[in-house]
Amino acid sequence: MPQYIDTQDADFETKLSALLSAKREDSPDVDDIVAGIIADVRARGDAAVLDLTAKFDRMDITADQLRFSSAEIDALIAQVSSEDRAALELAAERIRAYHVRQMPHDEQWTDPEGATLGWRWTPVSAAGLYVPGGLATYPSSVLMNAIPAKVAGVPRLAITVPTPDGAANPLVMLAARISGVDEIYRIGGAQAIAALAYGTQSIAPVDKITGPGNAFVAAAKRRVFGKVGIDMIAGPSEILVIADGDNDPDWIAIDLLSQAEHDESTQSILLTDDPAFARAVAASVDKFLQTLERRDIARKAWEDNGVIITVRDLDEAAVVSDRFAPEHLELCVADPDALSAKITHAGAIFLGAWTPEAIGDYIGGPNHVLPTARSARFSSGLSVLDFLKRTTLAKMTPQALAAIGPAAETLARAESLEAHGLSVRARLDRLNGDPDE
Ligand code: NAD
Repeated sequence: MPQYIDTQDADFETKLSALLSAKREDSPDVDDIVAGIIADVRARGDAAVLDLTAKFDRMDITADQLRFSSAEIDALIAQVSSEDRAALELAAERIRAYHVRQMPHDEQWTDPEGATLGWRWTPVSAAGLYVPGGLATYPSSVLMNAIPAKVAGVPRLAITVPTPDGAANPLVMLAARISGVDEIYRIGGAQAIAALAYGTQSIAPVDKITGPGNAFVAAAKRRVFGKVGIDMIAGPSEILVIADGDNDPDWIAIDLLSQAEHDESTQSILLTDDPAFARAVAASVDKFLQTLERRDIARKAWEDNGVIITVRDLDEAAVVSDRFAPEHLELCVADPDALSAKITHAGAIFLGAWTPEAIGDYIGGPNHVLPTARSARFSSGLSVLDFLKRTTLAKMTPQALAAIGPAAETLARAESLEAHGLSVRARLDRLNGDPDE
């Protein structure tokens, strides 16, 4: 049974607080295992990666087989149907068009004192893209990671994708080809993250690692942060739907299940101002759970983490939704734009009943790598900015230094940093024609 809550319940705040602090990822010993794996890869390089791949992915390979050869990639791509290829190409085109608009611009200006200031953006030199591949395959994730990196101008992109029992996915290879990536390694888990961060004899290290993965991947990304940059820790998926009673309950039910089918720790939440509609959606969810292919996973997720909240009105729904800061937010209401304007915290918003969240997973254009577990309060989905750095620029003329330098000298003195102050004073003295200078 999902949890039923009404904002009018006397203990609503208590129930909501319990929901907001609930931890859906429990992995007590994962971090210790991952620490051991990273240390092993740092110490033994390729040999450790090969041993761990044999152990976890049941695949015995040699160091020169770590990277897919271009002949292997070609052979896999040849297996893709024309229908799948066309869909992937359309997705890539739309994702690229969206992310091109995210490119920030360099700035430069001269202020009244004569100082020329600004900043410019440059890409990281090498990025590692983790593509999950343990239990399912994610060609869409290849596009969502690689295309923003390419748009940002990253010169080297390396993909790691586990191939348990040696089974490589043709669509993942095609997605890499469409995105312009040909450096692909058949490894996964914490060993892949360690290899990307520290490098091995066969894998050159990168500067930034992005991409989703299971608990081992997430723990490894946390641990290598600092040696390399990471995008975020994207945990189990969430969907929150705000729907009025004017919706087809089947549409809303299947949207809730579209995230529940990912894995048992996902969370689906319905907020509605119509109690009869809430009951109709719950009944429809039960109906779909009889037939859905991944019904066992979806049922467990819905029963353990599903929530139906009855609100007084849509304004209240917006306030409650902000408390969750959901990864995905659907607004199935008469005026979704007006409601959207009242939302502050959400990874991605899908406006109107004709915009199922799955459109965002594949083809809409926005990125599907999004902040989970309420981190949309302070972070955003993957974008070209994740592959760029900003360098600030400052250029003084003698006049500009004369105008603002004395204040720098004063502040240096206040901080007791003598050399700082002297570096300014030496120049000011020259300007003043001090004979000692
Ligand atoms: P994965 O590639 O993340 O993990 C597989 C690897 O885990 C294996 O190669 C192995 O090395 C390692 N591993 C497995 N068991 C291990 C153990 N006992 N000890 C040490 N290492 C072990 O693939 P997955 O398992 O299918 O998980 C994919 C995850 O990514 C799912 O949780 C899915 O929901 C998530 N995902 C999230 C998004 C997002 O945008 N948030 C998108 C796609 C997928």
